[in-house]
Amino acid sequence: MSSQSSATAYQATNSKTGGPCHGLRGAFLDFVADPFFTDEAASIRYLPDGLLVMDATGHICDFGPYDTLAALYGDIPVEVYRDRLIMPGFIDTHIHFPQIGMMAAYGEQLLEWLNKYTFPTERKFQDPDFAREMADRFLDELLRNGTTTALVFAAVFPQSADAFFAAAQARHLRMIAGKVMMDRNAPDYLCDTPESAYADSKALIEKWHQTDRLLYAVTPRFAITSTPEQLQKAGQLLREYPGVYLHTHLSENVNEVGFVRELFPDCDCYLDTYDQAGLVGEKSVFAHGVQLTDEEFRRLSAARAAIAFCPTSNLFLGSGLFKLEQAKSADHPVKLGLGTDVGAGTSFSLLQTANEAYKVAQLRNQQLSPFKALFLATLGGAQALGLADKIGSFDPGKEADFIVLNPQATPLLTLRNPQPTAKTLADLADLVFSLVIMGDDRAIAATYIMGQKSWPT
Ligand SMILES: [Zn+2]
Repeated sequence: MSSQSSATAYQATNSKTGGPCHGLRGAFLDFVADPFFTDEAASIRYLPDGLLVMDATGHICDFGPYDTLAALYGDIPVEVYRDRLIMPGFIDTHIHFPQIGMMAAYGEQLLEWLNKYTFPTERKFQDPDFAREMADRFLDELLRNGTTTALVFAAVFPQSADAFFAAAQARHLRMIAGKVMMDRNAPDYLCDTPESAYADSKALIEKWHQTDRLLYAVTPRFAITSTPEQLQKAGQLLREYPGVYLHTHLSENVNEVGFVRELFPDCDCYLDTYDQAGLVGEKSVFAHGVQLTDEEFRRLSAARAAIAFCPTSNLFLGSGLFKLEQAKSADHPVKLGLGTDVGAGTSFSLLQTANEAYKVAQLRNQQLSPFKALFLATLGGAQALGLADKIGSFDPGKEADFIVLNPQATPLLTLRNPQPTAKTLADLADLVFSLVIMGDDRAIAATYIMGQKSWPT
């Protein structure tokens, strides 16, 4: 376990962040390296009694053991959490905000589920007032579950993305989102065109990308609902705006992969439909990847693209078991985060998502340790989104988005964790495993955004 103080880093960042302003004392856990490729003990930073120092702009200016730092910051107000575990905010690398009201839609697999439930639901987001109301409820739900950053699908209507960005801006959140592009194999009321998708996305990029903490993702739904012409337009946007993301679905379900093969006879594989349009790069995030071939994993690795592993959704829609060992292969590693994929996903909670990820690994005779799962939900997600310089850990200079977990949040968790603050690495592994398997929104005692408590309000 690493526990070094960072007074030097504070000196370096102090001048640009305005100086220490307030602090938080308690037990802290974050990651300093990827536990899939580094010894777990060396990848974890655990401070049973730590101090997090923040400035007035909401950035972290120092972090270390309380005993070491207290003398340096004797004059700042310090909020104290006892019997709690403070972690960086969770990062959800794939979720649909218009699907907040349609979770638990019974009985179908992907393509039928889209037609029967999803498309009629997303139609309602044409109304900007309804979209704004749902965006606020969606963000309430994220914060209640300890999720501080997400990569978000809006609906096809540009006003739905506009409503989401406005709601996220009002809460000072770091969010990435985009209007869906889809011009075929969907009801007329949900279809745009290559030209309108390009123009609407461009206007949204100009308005929202890098406005405050917001970032834009060019968002073709998937290869089935975009013509090759529309995918080319998406590629044009990425070339014109090099900082924006590409966010789509990839190789989720067997029937979907077969349909893509029929629609794109000239492409070698599913990933190639995106590659031929220039959509596979360092800022690309592909949800699912359950059915990917070894060659596709290698191509994603070479392109430094990311996958969002969405286990609750993959199990709910019967899509299959993600090959975690392929994504985390030492030979061709792919950047990886966890996604809830609400509303095919069954929970907003990244703890519950990690729980199902553990079970998916078990069904493939693999073990996903609690530290690896929590890495994917925090620093791993930040790396997948190319945001590890801003969020995902307690390093000085980063934005102070973090959560306070209660290891005794329920009667059963209290029984399971009579000692809520771990003293050894083994105790900590046991404690956080119980949170991964038994925890959910009830385990989130508080969520802080830019150093300020945002939930509960
Ligand atoms: Zn999805």
